Amino acid sequence: MHWRSLKSCRYIHLYEDPSAKTLDINVIKQYVSEKIPYAIVDARAEFTRYHLKGYEVDSFARRLASIRVKNPLTKMPNQEPLYGEVEYEKRVLKGEIRGSGVLYDGFELQTLLSQLIGEEESTLSHAHIVFTSRLFATWDEGDGRYHIRVIILGNPSIISTTGVAEGPAMPKEFYRLQQTLLAIGATQQIELMKERFRGRYIDYSDERLNEVMKGYVMQALFYQIFGEAFCSSRRCRLYNAHWQEELIEAQLSKQEFCDHHQSLLNQLKQDEEEDRGDDC
Ligand SMILES: [Zn+2]
Ligand SMILES: [Zn+2]
Repeated sequence: MHWRSLKSCRYIHLYEDPSAKTLDINVIKQYVSEKIPYAIVDARAEFTRYHLKGYEVDSFARRLASIRVKNPLTKMPNQEPLYGEVEYEKRVLKGEIRGSGVLYDGFELQTLLSQLIGEEESTLSHAHIVFTSRLFATWDEGDGRYHIRVIILGNPSIISTTGVAEGPAMPKEFYRLQQTLLAIGATQQIELMKERFRGRYIDYSDERLNEVMKGYVMQALFYQIFGEAFCSSRRCRLYNAHWQEELIEAQLSKQEFCDHHQSLLNQLKQDEEEDRGDDC
């Protein structure tokens, strides 16, 4: 392994999502700085607020509206966005309203955001990690439908603070009970039922959000630095969880990483210490 070339990722930029009340970007920044000691980590404002120039807002709003997923069962872009859809995007971009409840094509969203990054920061020595309240999904050829995702890896990597609640499935019993309640028309009981499952899923303003998001940020960084993102070990932060309970197990158990991924991090640290030694 050529560790020195792995250290080509020198700058890590984290973008906050101000609408996620329990996400503290400085906690994430501190964590990343400890794990990747050679990198220069900074916390920035919300991504479009940081990169989008005022005169670009109108055209960018239109492009955002055009990547809406209107029907999760069809892979059709929203080619002719409605006036109201574009206006809605403008208001979100201007910070007048919080963007939620709209689903976007994840890869298209990633492409749009990547176009806002300046040339000097578009190299592999910069990692951009964007927290967003936008909900996104990717098309699955296998079952012919869109699936909500928590993270899209690449540059930028985008992590959805709402997708973490909406994407991974609830415990199976939850759906069984929900079906029963719906069948007997007891829809008001569903909220109460959610209460029973508290702790077994991550909610929008969950107090464990920082802890969970540390793992997703590490997935993005492992992908950029080592070219590997997901792990098959359920107790590793790089585990690609499809269920809420798996997500909690991967992100909140005592051991953070599997032996293999921990050893990659150790190599980075060791290398950093040797470099410091050289300077003396
Ligand atoms: Zn490996
Ligand atoms: Zn692992």
